[in-house]
Amino acid sequence: MRIDGPHSGPYGKKVMTQTTSKIDAVRVSVLQARREGKRIACVPTMGALHEGHLSLIDEAKKLADYVVVTVFVNPTQFGPQEDFHKYPRPIEKDIAMCSSRDADLIFNPDVETMYPSTPGAKTFIEVPGLSEILEGAIRPGHFRGVATVVMKLFQIVMPDVACFGSKDFQQLAVIKQMVRDLNSPIQIVGCPTIRETDGLAMSSRNAYLSPEQRAVAIRLYEAMVFAKNQVTAGHSDLASIMSKMAEIITRDGAMTLDYAILANPTTLETLTQPQPEMVALVAARNGTTRLIDNMMMTPK
Ligand code: AMP
Repeated sequence: MRIDGPHSGPYGKKVMTQTTSKIDAVRVSVLQARREGKRIACVPTMGALHEGHLSLIDEAKKLADYVVVTVFVNPTQFGPQEDFHKYPRPIEKDIAMCSSRDADLIFNPDVETMYPSTPGAKTFIEVPGLSEILEGAIRPGHFRGVATVVMKLFQIVMPDVACFGSKDFQQLAVIKQMVRDLNSPIQIVGCPTIRETDGLAMSSRNAYLSPEQRAVAIRLYEAMVFAKNQVTAGHSDLASIMSKMAEIITRDGAMTLDYAILANPTTLETLTQPQPEMVALVAARNGTTRLIDNMMMTPK
């Protein structure tokens, strides 16, 4: 089960990042890297990679010597009416993108490999509280699926450090809580959100948007910028700022609001009074596509 060195073929020519669907092959490669004294990083993704994902690989390369990117569309984090089956899976393009950023190994398992006891898997990770509000309230079971698959990936890759996007703010909070609660030694690093030039957060799901939907999607960003300007200018009527954010997002009925709040960045509870660190959390449905975003802000 040998995996060849990922970056240079004969004569030093660059080759594609090695890809495997086998757990044992990941373990062998990571063990080899560890024997060479390398620090290991993991970047969990569902594939359909974009510059946001690649920024996580770049950060992982700075923090470690051997970077494993996992590409797995995890069924347990999708609800029955959600887009698991239509989620894009352009694996050849993903491999090329990982290669362009010198990732060392791609782990692209199938569902049977990740869930060997299915049907009838019995063991799941629950992170109560944080998992039940906002995204968790709208997508019941979502964070149970996320926490479980991330811990499974950690058990396979056994990284020193793992990089996640702040784009999925609540997911990052859930994973940090899980790692703390389970005494895991893995360092969890949150990375900045990468945006299109007009401010829309990059997301694999943006590919679902029609040109008309893409044009109104920017309102999530506009609403957060409005809130940030208000908050940094010293306005303290948070209820009225939140209601204006909702108005911006739902203008002309183009999008349906799930939430637009100013929250405590640790507990994610909605704030009534300004505090030194605040986060705007927004989510809306744009046609059948759900979009989420967030922005940190500090009052004057
Ligand atoms: P996904 O493939 O959507 O599960 O995302 C995999 C990882 O990429 C997660 O840690 C996301 O938070 C992160 N990510 C997704 N979009 C972005 C973005 N626009 N900027 C930075 N990180 C992102």
